[in-house]
Amino acid sequence: MIVFKSTRDSHWVHLDEAILKGLADDGGLYIPDQLPQMQWEDFKAYRSLPEFAYYLLRPFFEKSAIPFDLDFCRKIFNVPMPLHRLADRQYVLELFHGPTLSFKDFGARFFAACLSALAKNKEFKVLVATSGDTGSAVAAALFGQPGVKAVILFPYKQITARQQAQITTWGGNVKALAVNGRFDDCQRLVKAAFSDEDLAQSYHLTTANSINIARLLPQMLFYAYSSVYLAAKGQQPVHFIVPSGNLGNVTACYWAREMGFPIGEIQIATNENRALLDYWNTGDYQPHATISTLANAMDVGNPSNLERLLALYSDYGLFKREVNVEAVSDEEIRQAIVQCYQESHYLICPHTATAYHRLQVADPEKTWIIAATAAPAKFEEVIEPLLGIHLPIPKSLEKILARDEQFQRIEPQLEDVIKWGLEH
Ligand SMILES: *Cc1c(COP(=O)(O)O)cnc(C)c1O
Repeated sequence: MIVFKSTRDSHWVHLDEAILKGLADDGGLYIPDQLPQMQWEDFKAYRSLPEFAYYLLRPFFEKSAIPFDLDFCRKIFNVPMPLHRLADRQYVLELFHGPTLSFKDFGARFFAACLSALAKNKEFKVLVATSGDTGSAVAAALFGQPGVKAVILFPYKQITARQQAQITTWGGNVKALAVNGRFDDCQRLVKAAFSDEDLAQSYHLTTANSINIARLLPQMLFYAYSSVYLAAKGQQPVHFIVPSGNLGNVTACYWAREMGFPIGEIQIATNENRALLDYWNTGDYQPHATISTLANAMDVGNPSNLERLLALYSDYGLFKREVNVEAVSDEEIRQAIVQCYQESHYLICPHTATAYHRLQVADPEKTWIIAATAAPAKFEEVIEPLLGIHLPIPKSLEKILARDEQFQRIEPQLEDVIKWGLEH
């Protein structure tokens, strides 16, 4: 049976407890004590996403109280994940066809289904810090779910108008708090709430940030499924470039590779937030203050999931060999959006643009997939003036934008989170 241990000590818990707790008591993140080894050739037979997901994730659910079966997967993985061919041996994996138009919908919906299966007769409070897309994905996934209340902290004026609308127009069991500060302040508040054991227990707190293992596990599907798809056509191994901030998505890619899927190189693209790059260069980790960039869902100065990557490669030499990171500037993001549109007549969002930038210097003899993490239509403020075009608003967004926003502005302090979020 696979159990989950903290990145900071060796005590372990079962999957269900790891999901409910979010963060381990010692402040570490839960990781599987082992990754099951799989024969990727067996997965060629699983044509549909739900079926593939079921066989991929089943080993993690042994002895779980969550009714994980093919039906469970059919309800979550009913969102398409098309692979768009840009050029010979170059593909874009579109992960943005869910209700809030970013890859985070997959993890958020999976998490929501796990949590409400575990809720029974308690009310869980899901506390989330968001730099944009997490909040909207979690709000959409948890809205109306019995036994769960969502409290979402976002940095006031640091996210786009459309991102804000997707967090603040739900009402009901979704409470939005606009923090006077940056994403790192929001993340710090969430961590502070969790490290206060009395508080965490009395409010039945859990988190839907990518520190929650239920967010990460389903993301392995992106890389396992698309690599098997191309490998079955003889293009193995498949190399990936992943736009990254908190490093959750790319960790799932590393895990999929460890499990035996036909994945070659993994390249990380970040924006100007260089905490990972500086660590890679020096071996000395320093959290940075967050810098605001065009790829705002990746504006993270102190990436939580670095602990999970370090747990894979505890030796710095090995880490340096296995981790390949480049920081992409706003100017390079703009150029990438323009170039991709001119050369391939294909629209990419500012996050995806960081990966596209790296793709331009990737080895053309190899097969590459870049992860497209959000729909371009969410970032019309960046894209429209660059390309001189008008982006139609997707239907799902239009409905949300028509509703009234409701949120409470708070100072970056725990008392305000308790008063306005947990008790209100
Ligand atoms: C969250 C997000 C990212 C970064 O993903 P991490 O798992 O935090 O590294 C990249 N792009 C978009 C659009 C996102 O919403």
